[in-house]
Amino acid sequence: MKCRLLREESTLPCKEYPGEWRCRKCGASGSSGSKITHCPECKSLVGQRSARVPAGTIWTLDVVSLVRQGIAVPADEECERAVGMTPEQLTKAQHLQDRLRLGITPEDFKVFDDGVMRGYKPNGDWIPGPNYEEAAWQQRKQDSPLIIVEDE
Ligand SMILES: [Zn+2]
Repeated sequence: MKCRLLREESTLPCKEYPGEWRCRKCGASGSSGSKITHCPECKSLVGQRSARVPAGTIWTLDVVSLVRQGIAVPADEECERAVGMTPEQLTKAQHLQDRLRLGITPEDFKVFDDGVMRGYKPNGDWIPGPNYEEAAWQQRKQDSPLIIVEDE
């Protein structure tokens, strides 16, 4: 059973570099042959090195779970059957996965879902989505001090 990854992913723990580690704090790195949790130099927590897996990679582990979470799409019929989701359900799962990864806060779920914004800039401002202009125009009309009097 196979699926295809939609984005670049990292594998944790790393299968490509087992036992390799690097310390983010002091920059030390090494190969211990087994998993370590603390840097031998500065004693701070260390991350095990992770491998990057490019988008589009055909993947054979945890296939059903990855597709259901919107991380991958089915790459063969066996996977499609096992997942048992309609194209609409797949699109919805991918959308929810995007929302999660972009760190969209619950108060912005609606504007993200409506395409008004598609994420945050480093300063927290919205990155405008395809429907940003229209939403801004509707808001300006609502906020306008002008009162439109209609003729009888
Ligand atoms: Zn260290």
